[in-house]
Amino acid sequence: MLKHAILYPSFLVAGCIALLIGIFGGSFAWFFAILLLAAGMTAWGAFDIRLGYFAHAFFRKKYHAEGRIALTFDDGPSPHTAEVLRLLKAYQFKATFFCIGKQVLAHPDMAKQIIDEGHVIGNHTYSHRQSFGFLKEKDVVTELERCNVIIQQSVGKKPKFFRPPFGVTNPSVAKAVQHTKQQIIGWSNRSLDTVTWEEDKIYQRVCKKLKPGDIILFHDTSQRTVNVLKRLLPYLQKNGYISVSVDDLLNLHAYEQ
Ligand SMILES: [Zn+2]
Repeated sequence: MLKHAILYPSFLVAGCIALLIGIFGGSFAWFFAILLLAAGMTAWGAFDIRLGYFAHAFFRKKYHAEGRIALTFDDGPSPHTAEVLRLLKAYQFKATFFCIGKQVLAHPDMAKQIIDEGHVIGNHTYSHRQSFGFLKEKDVVTELERCNVIIQQSVGKKPKFFRPPFGVTNPSVAKAVQHTKQQIIGWSNRSLDTVTWEEDKIYQRVCKKLKPGDIILFHDTSQRTVNVLKRLLPYLQKNGYISVSVDDLLNLHAYEQ
């Protein structure tokens, strides 16, 4: 697995050698090539949570999943969460909701209903700031802790799972989750339900990539997603898949013991 801790010193050494070659050989081509490669790798590592470049993230169950997948819903609770819960109940599927603290404050009854119906709640920061990828460690910790407190006050459980907004990981996020002792949960199947407007395309995209052990990313924030679920849930059932919560899929604890 690619790791920032291994590659960063390698880039540094290679960069220094290339700089010396430039100074004494007259061509800085290698130096700029390494600089470009390091910048590219940093950006790729920050936005592809599966690489585990800056921090370890669980993103699927590799072995012995036996038709089990985990549906996950980010950015709620919202007025659409009730319909998502109704559909999950109809198919007896369990899911994991990565809630934004502010949204839990706005819809506390919905957060309680998620728990009462046997689903799991994870942390998706207090405010889901657009600038999340540029926050310092202490600001990421504040975002995590404020969300933890709100979830604990609303449903009586302190989440262990954290999903970074936009799937961004970087050194600040890596240190922050060490501080709050939380685990990063990514995904292996992304519906793109917030950027694709056509419901059929979202449905086809998820089905085409579907494998046992998948963690599937949705957002419980639109009627579009609800409509996709109305097709997807019967498809999953017909093809022998069941959705379980992330803790169940990965054999982890969802809440602080
Ligand atoms: Zn989000």
